[in-house]
Amino acid sequence: MPRRRLGQHFLKDRSVIARILAEAGIGPQDRILEIGPGRGALTLDLARTAQQVLAVELDRDLAERLPDHPHLKVVQGDILQVDLESLLAPHEDWKVVANLPYYITTPILDRLLTEGKPRILGMWVMVQKEVAERMCARGTRESGSLSHFVQYHAEVRTLFRVRPGSFQPPPEVDSAVVRLLPHRVPPVEAPSDLLFRLIRTAFGGRRKTLRRSLAGVLSDPVAVLEAAGIDPTRRPETLVLEEFAALARAALAQG
Ligand code: SAM
Repeated sequence: MPRRRLGQHFLKDRSVIARILAEAGIGPQDRILEIGPGRGALTLDLARTAQQVLAVELDRDLAERLPDHPHLKVVQGDILQVDLESLLAPHEDWKVVANLPYYITTPILDRLLTEGKPRILGMWVMVQKEVAERMCARGTRESGSLSHFVQYHAEVRTLFRVRPGSFQPPPEVDSAVVRLLPHRVPPVEAPSDLLFRLIRTAFGGRRKTLRRSLAGVLSDPVAVLEAAGIDPTRRPETLVLEEFAALARAALAQG
């Protein structure tokens, strides 16, 4: 029986599996980190094509039942707890391919895009469609802290949508496969601690104008916003990452 609390929605649609592998351009030179191999829907195809597949599965029963393959190493454990650095070292060319457990999408992305980033070439991951929209949003209603975090660390793109009927059991939401290519150099110039503090604070008061929501962190928010060329009556979701970076630089300049 699938364990829904572990986000177990197994891919059954072969055309979706083939499309993920094609989008990730898997070839004999590739090393793959798969998160949550489950019953192996993607795993065996990956192992047959790539030189190495490291599959991290939390569910002990599923981990034990995955078939043997000379290119496959199964690690039973929690992707949020495993020692990522020693698992991935010494290589720096891993591709992450996964139908993610949706209940921990954000912490997984957080970990892979910070700790894992130096060793990861790219990620091709299935997420909830609404989360894909938030990851890719730029200055629209869906925009939030997640959009800015992801776009600071990677170039992100939604590749295709996947209907609930492609999974067993079907989830209650639509899904999408997203590609993330980590930036080697951040796309904006700003001290990242300050940048993310401003972003989190701004979105903490999503319905408020920036002049009000930033009052807790900036002594004169109007002056800083104007120095950054941002209308203080705008709301946080209308800003793109470059504008938050300009805001952080202006805040720094004004002490
Ligand atoms: N890859 C399989 C497929 O596409 O059919 C299964 C995908 S299913 C959406 C998510 C998988 O992640 C499940 O096998 C689940 O047991 C596993 N999982 C859940 N939480 C996990 C965690 N913290 N660390 C590693 N795997 C986890």
